[in-house]
Amino acid sequence: MTEEMNYGEDYKYIPVTSIMSGKGQEVRPDIYAFMVQVVNLCMVGEPNSSTGWTLIDAGMPKSADAIIKEAENRFGVNARPNGIVLTHGHFDHVGAIIELIEHWNVPVYAHELEIPYLTGVKSYPDADPTVEGGIVARMSPYFPNEPINLGDHVKPLTSDGSVPVLQDWNWIHTPGHSPGHVSFFRESDGALIAGDAFVTVKQESLFKVLVQNQEISGPPRYFTTDWKQAWHSVKKLKDLRPSVAITGHGLPMQDEALTENLTKLVNEFDEIAIPKHGRYVDGLEN
Ligand SMILES: [Zn+2]
Ligand SMILES: [Zn+2]
Repeated sequence: MTEEMNYGEDYKYIPVTSIMSGKGQEVRPDIYAFMVQVVNLCMVGEPNSSTGWTLIDAGMPKSADAIIKEAENRFGVNARPNGIVLTHGHFDHVGAIIELIEHWNVPVYAHELEIPYLTGVKSYPDADPTVEGGIVARMSPYFPNEPINLGDHVKPLTSDGSVPVLQDWNWIHTPGHSPGHVSFFRESDGALIAGDAFVTVKQESLFKVLVQNQEISGPPRYFTTDWKQAWHSVKKLKDLRPSVAITGHGLPMQDEALTENLTKLVNEFDEIAIPKHGRYVDGLEN
């Protein structure tokens, strides 16, 4: 028998949005990035292809109808993905997932270290409002961090790097922002779906989020707990030499702009990404 699913008790609509909310961008013929309020999700697969399509990440709380509608706009009435793959389990990446699983009846995959946060076992650490950067950071204690429970609907990714529903892609472990954070990479064209390993907007700033001002940034500060790992993860992604990156927040970045900005982020990570003070940086040396 299938277990009942539930969101964390603190899940709720979060009234933060951007001018790009509800807009999408075809980054490659088979990669469509769609923004829900302030977070991106990706639909991977060409419309009308026989191999189907996959959803990567699942938006903000209360956004299921918008996601289903966008999927039907792109793939036709009754469009249904072959599965949902998660970069990590923060509320803004799984916000609509229960309604989506119920509507589509599809499997979900996540890194095994993220599974406890998706099966009601563990809460993420509290957001840290003391990191500098702006109003979104200060609002962050209001963000849900209690664990969602997807029961046996969520399955761990296999250790060989393959993704069951996404041929040609590999998952790469990019911890730091969360323990089981993964990014997805397609070697044939250098496409990278980076989740929150790094982002292209200063996510702590309400104004920059609102206007989606493009600016390379480390992972959102208020939720990042291991900055050494986070730095290492960004180096790993830069070394893949991606040609385009769709990040969890911010607009997609491509080609030279991406190469230059990622190099800068790796070289100046302590200046650009790591907060000067905060619950998860004090005591961090070397
Ligand atoms: Zn996150
Ligand atoms: Zn996020």
